[in-house]
Amino acid sequence: MEAEKLAEQNNNRDERQQAIADAGGARPNDKNFIPTMTKRAEEFFGPGGFNKVIEQLGALAKDAHEISIGKAVDDLGLTESHLCGAPYGEANQGWPHCGECSKSMSFVGQLNTGVIEDFPEHGPGLYTFFVCFACDTASQDSPAPPGNGWLVRTYTTVSNGSRIKPPRDTKETPARPMKTNDVVKTMPQWDFVDKMDPDLVDMLVKLYPPDVESLYEKLKDVCLGPDHEASFSHVGGFPEWVAGEELVNCKKCQSPLSLLMQLESIESLGVKFGDGGTAYLMYCPNHPADTSLVVQGA
Ligand SMILES: [Zn+2]
Ligand SMILES: [Zn+2]
Repeated sequence: MEAEKLAEQNNNRDERQQAIADAGGARPNDKNFIPTMTKRAEEFFGPGGFNKVIEQLGALAKDAHEISIGKAVDDLGLTESHLCGAPYGEANQGWPHCGECSKSMSFVGQLNTGVIEDFPEHGPGLYTFFVCFACDTASQDSPAPPGNGWLVRTYTTVSNGSRIKPPRDTKETPARPMKTNDVVKTMPQWDFVDKMDPDLVDMLVKLYPPDVESLYEKLKDVCLGPDHEASFSHVGGFPEWVAGEELVNCKKCQSPLSLLMQLESIESLGVKFGDGGTAYLMYCPNHPADTSLVVQGA
């Protein structure tokens, strides 16, 4: 049995090496990888072939709005986007408690997508976002069901709500405005490319059959350009996964959730997802109340 396994592994390795040799001999981390792919693209797709591939790839890019945090203020509008402070709430909505440890949750922030130009994919929404830092279930059991370690309240219309008060035993930190003026480009995860542009996938498979996903990652870098910095806190666009892509589907329509907001831990504000993790708040544009929270790098 062991010998069989070994033989199979060797076979696979031989096949892979043969495939790499057939694809021009370059590996994704070699210096000559992009030049080799450029040459192959010219052969397969004619003069300027490589640029054609990069252009087609670039068409998948989606704008995201980089988050910057302003100075503490105390005259913030009720529905303005902000971190810390106190959230918007409607009649009969109390402060949420954690379904896992039953302690009061902490309010992380609220996001009003209605004020972001070009963002609301399907109408505006106000989202208030709570996490239980006491049990940290959101980071440890990611993705935890809503209510257990985290909670998002979605308001597709805003009526006569008010700011809800945190429980007595929690200290309220001053609200910090969350600005989203800078637009950055983001690219989809590999899983989505097939759904968005199957022709492009065919092209990439032709270019580098041994490892098309690594090819995609390399070409993504070419496409975003050398000055591109991964924006680690942003609204909309595609998630920039710190620990590998994660696909979450809507429970109602089964389609993959979109990114509402990606937020890094900000320890100085007490916003800490596990040990300095990044939170990915996902939502379904067709069912905005269906949210999911993925935490990575915690
Ligand atoms: Zn808890
Ligand atoms: Zn849905």
